[in-house]
Amino acid sequence: MSALPASNAPLLLHMVGGRSVAGSGTSTHPVVNPATGAVIARATNGTAEDVDQAVAVATTAFAAWRRTTPAERADVLLRAAGVVEENGDELARLESANAGKPLALAREDVAGTVDTLRFMAGAVRAQQSLAAGDYLAGKTSMIVREPVGVVAAITPWNYPLLTAAWKIGPILAAGNTCVLKPSEQTPLTTIRLAELLADVVPPGVLNIILGEGPVVGEALATHPDVALVSVTGSVRSGQAVARAASDSLKRVHLELGGKAPVIVFADADLDAVADGIAFAGFGNSGQDCGAACRVLVEESVHDALVERLVARAEALVVGDPVEGEAVEMGPLVSEAHRDSVVGFLERAYAEGVRAAAGGGAPDRSGFFVSPTVLVDIPADAECVRQEIFGPVVTVETFADEEAAVAAANDTAYGLAASVWTGNARRAAALPGRLDFGTVWVNDHLSFATEMPWGGFKASGYGRDLSAYALDDYSRTKHVMVNHG
Ligand code: NAD
Repeated sequence: MSALPASNAPLLLHMVGGRSVAGSGTSTHPVVNPATGAVIARATNGTAEDVDQAVAVATTAFAAWRRTTPAERADVLLRAAGVVEENGDELARLESANAGKPLALAREDVAGTVDTLRFMAGAVRAQQSLAAGDYLAGKTSMIVREPVGVVAAITPWNYPLLTAAWKIGPILAAGNTCVLKPSEQTPLTTIRLAELLADVVPPGVLNIILGEGPVVGEALATHPDVALVSVTGSVRSGQAVARAASDSLKRVHLELGGKAPVIVFADADLDAVADGIAFAGFGNSGQDCGAACRVLVEESVHDALVERLVARAEALVVGDPVEGEAVEMGPLVSEAHRDSVVGFLERAYAEGVRAAAGGGAPDRSGFFVSPTVLVDIPADAECVRQEIFGPVVTVETFADEEAAVAAANDTAYGLAASVWTGNARRAAALPGRLDFGTVWVNDHLSFATEMPWGGFKASGYGRDLSAYALDDYSRTKHVMVNHG
């Protein structure tokens, strides 16, 4: 998408009932290309009144959508997947321009979107099987899975299209209707997705309201006719939504932040570790809730690993994704976020931390931070406690396995961790001792649509992907029939 002056930037509107709707908002939010700083669109700011209208439309649509069979919903989702696949190039380019993603990564997100829709189409047909049994004489019991109703979905800016699909797929497959609010910073692909699906998904089943978290997100979380609110975002937003949802006691599904430890033993293949961290720590500019950002390495191989990490960080091709397929790392999502990451680095240096590679914002336009490797880290330094959410990997040491497990678990977060070792006993034993929703062994940031994704502790609760997501977005009913 070409950069346009602010006044000529296209205006993005809500999508309600399968149509573009202006709503009642009187202000707009700039949508910026973070590689250049140019305003490429303006998104209308929704209001609580717009949320009311979308929820009313979704409630009406629910009456018919809930009565469809799993096979009928699967058919809609399979056609939706086909439409996304056909328009994959456009969606990838939009995502790249709005979120600063290298094109190859944006294409992977499109592929993940297609796969999620196809998986949920199949999984819901398997999930809906009913269990029946005669537990009392003359009475037959059945378990029925039902949709919960209108589900509100709130998504972040780091994977705008993919997180939307991770919500829309299971929400619709389970028979719910949806009102989704994308991040105000990255609404382009969500609106385009809804436009593309308008001919495939029945009107009112999928609705998008644009706007700010504390206004539109809050209105969704408090709305009496919303049965469940699902958020992917920061801990602070998750807490705000859980609080707002508590008055109506609606169900809450939270996928929040992370600070993934990467435990590296001396018996690991250090080249594979460095490749894995370069991919999972610097990929998407480190703006990944599961990013490999906190390396804990056995003392004897610290220097050998740092040497490899520095070489990988310095070799990464950083640039504007439009420069071509060779670009491996783009900018951060916004100027404010770039400044936040630089702030973390400056405070780290004040604590005595040293940058072995990178270390700050390069001298160029756009919101870039160089791939950075931090060493000489004092105990309890802020940079190993807080989620920085940038291309910053910290390296600390441990003396033995016990110390490694204790250090890894010593965090408020519980989303993901990895263990790198050539020792089979450790590979089998350590995952059970680590307090994280996903533990990889000799890998980091690999996903399978069939497997759940979600956290423990401050990283939230609820699971994306897999049949567990379908369970989260449906409810269990016991029906007992007396035929005695
Ligand atoms: P954010 O919390 O700032 O925003 C996420 C969404 O919540 C946005 O749509 C925002 O408008 C909305 N929001 C903000 N305040 C709200 C409120 N008071 N009520 C309702 N909605 C509100 O997060 P972000 O900066 O867009 O994304 C980065 C964060 O998301 C990081 O912490 C990252 O770890 C997390 N994340 C988690 C996962 C996961 O699967 N666990 C995936 C991606 C991102």
